[in-house]
Amino acid sequence: MDHVTSRPSASQADQSRHAWAESGVENLGAGVYRIPLPLPGDSLRAVNVYAIAGDDGVDLIDAGMALEQARERLTESLGQLGYGLGDIRNFFITHIHQDHYTLAVQLRTTLSGKITLGEGERINMQAIRNVEAGRNELGFIEMLAAMGAPELADQVRGFVAGHAGRHQRLQWSDPDHWLADGAQLDLRSRTLRAVHTPGHTRGHVVFHDEAAAVLFAGDHVLPHITPSVGFQPAINKLALRDYLGSLRLMLTLPDSRLLPAHGPVCESTHDRVSELLAHHETRLEQTLAAASAGPVTALQAADAIPWTRRQRRFADLDPMSQVLAIGETAAHLEVLVLRGQLVRHTSPEGVDTYKLPVG
Ligand SMILES: [Zn+2]
Repeated sequence: MDHVTSRPSASQADQSRHAWAESGVENLGAGVYRIPLPLPGDSLRAVNVYAIAGDDGVDLIDAGMALEQARERLTESLGQLGYGLGDIRNFFITHIHQDHYTLAVQLRTTLSGKITLGEGERINMQAIRNVEAGRNELGFIEMLAAMGAPELADQVRGFVAGHAGRHQRLQWSDPDHWLADGAQLDLRSRTLRAVHTPGHTRGHVVFHDEAAAVLFAGDHVLPHITPSVGFQPAINKLALRDYLGSLRLMLTLPDSRLLPAHGPVCESTHDRVSELLAHHETRLEQTLAAASAGPVTALQAADAIPWTRRQRRFADLDPMSQVLAIGETAAHLEVLVLRGQLVRHTSPEGVDTYKLPVG
């Protein structure tokens, strides 16, 4: 048999890689269901909402994006489980990103379900308010100048402004409950523990069901991609340090089935966490190498490193991916500074450059 043709073709492999995002309800057993909701035009394709069925209602982990298509899909899917939108008791949201939070806020305007969000997101909520009131720019745009990419900042400002015009204004009201690290959520059928996992955002939480060995991981641990770090309204230079700490924290919990917000369900959280830690160590080595002939800005270092699993050149990425790539690079450079492997110099204009320590 020809071993070449027996392998899946590239497009077949791509199809199975994206199978998780197709509409439907996946029964994960013990009253837990995975419901992928669409994110049209987004390379993430979909966001998983997990429904936990109860006798007198349903609790959701994450809510999806405030879009008509997402709302319809959620209505249909809950209908298959015998619930209406009015039966949602709680929206337990892993973090403040719009693809997780905003549909909950929209639904709450007419329904009684309560929204819970990690208290570490207060600072991002405040930053969003400041941006809406014109007091501040979005943190990740503001940081681009310090990263040596002011032209890209201009491009992204234009993109964000155009985007805001096309969509109806997103709702950013506070949750009903701000959740503390370690809080226990008693759902009667099970108990979830909220574990603060800063990095992807400041206030990201995962929900751990230790008895069932299940982890609702949000964007902290994703099976196919490495989550962005620090791509949030409020600036945090040490987002990668926080993220690596939050990954190691997962290894101190008993291993669990991984229920991610993007991608298919996987058997071992620990296996994926180990891969992600190894990935970032490789990235740190590449970043250090890129800065060795320094001084370099984050932009210059990003330009020297291959991107995505296809090893693409930085210049070939679209502007939003370039923003993420520069942010990632800056985060790695800052960890190298913390480790004493690089030093940072900030120019009078506020541009950060990095180089090897002298001597
Ligand atoms: Zn996210």
